[in-house]
Amino acid sequence: MTVAKEFEKSNQKYVDQFAKGDLALPPSRKVAVVICMDARIDPAKALGLEEGDAHVIRNAGGRATDALRSVIISQRLLGTREIVVIHHTDCGMLTFTDESLRKQLVSEADENVDHFAFLPFNDLEKSVVDDVKFFKKNSLVLDVPVSGYVYDVKTGAINKVI
Ligand SMILES: [Zn+2]
Repeated sequence: MTVAKEFEKSNQKYVDQFAKGDLALPPSRKVAVVICMDARIDPAKALGLEEGDAHVIRNAGGRATDALRSVIISQRLLGTREIVVIHHTDCGMLTFTDESLRKQLVSEADENVDHFAFLPFNDLEKSVVDDVKFFKKNSLVLDVPVSGYVYDVKTGAINKVI
């Protein structure tokens, strides 16, 4: 059985108790969270979010440049007025370089992806600061509060960096 099939089963249970069909499209707490896709992080549980509260924009590493398209839409079309960036300990982005992944893709897929930035990092706190600064400096992003945290996968705690 595929995982997708399992999802169909699980979703039926969710549907049976679902009572939030009347939520507004714009997030009620007017916040966009940019956070890594890491499977160990459940942003809703970790941050106290309910359906309708926030835009949670996930990608590998929780990188700002990758999230920019979504942040622009979130702010300009759906009214969010705060950004929270969350990277985390033991992130997969700490384990490779652009060069190593490019080499791997040449050998496995016979594709040259030298133009492609995978945005790995080797300094966790610096990557948070860099991404907060990216949003603060980008002229397409509104002048709103932007904060940055590191989520600890061992304790579940978010620790403020900037
Ligand atoms: Zn990660």
